[in-house]
Amino acid sequence: MARYRSTLAWILGLVAVFLVSCSGPTTATVAPTYTPVQLAQIRQYESKVVELRQRLPALATLIENRNWTDVRTFIHGPLGELRVRMSILARTLLPEAEATATAAAKEISGHFVEIDEAAVNEDYRQAIRNYAEAVKDFDVLLKVIPQG
Ligand code: ZN
Repeated sequence: MARYRSTLAWILGLVAVFLVSCSGPTTATVAPTYTPVQLAQIRQYESKVVELRQRLPALATLIENRNWTDVRTFIHGPLGELRVRMSILARTLLPEAEATATAAAKEISGHFVEIDEAAVNEDYRQAIRNYAEAVKDFDVLLKVIPQG
């Protein structure tokens, strides 16, 4: 009987050690997530960026038509606000997504500067190449924004 009890105690001891070692790491490594309030805020800022993204084809048309004055007006007008909107959106994201979004936003702004320069020099190839790059960088930016 004594031997049975000590064996039982030994098994229970093992189970306890097992449970402690299992529960420890899982509770410690919960990934950070967005709160419903944050998600609602992100949706709001995202819609303001997407709104401008949807106007980009109009810029492509102006470039295609080599309408350089209107290209510059478009970049300084409607797209002028984009830089601010993108950085506000990036700041609402979790650190890793924020870094990607900030880098993409910087790329996009840089391409618009290049398109503006191309318009001054009436350089079609430089303009259309940077337009295509900006569209790609937009995809990178929008991909890190959480859905749902
Ligand atoms: Zn780029």
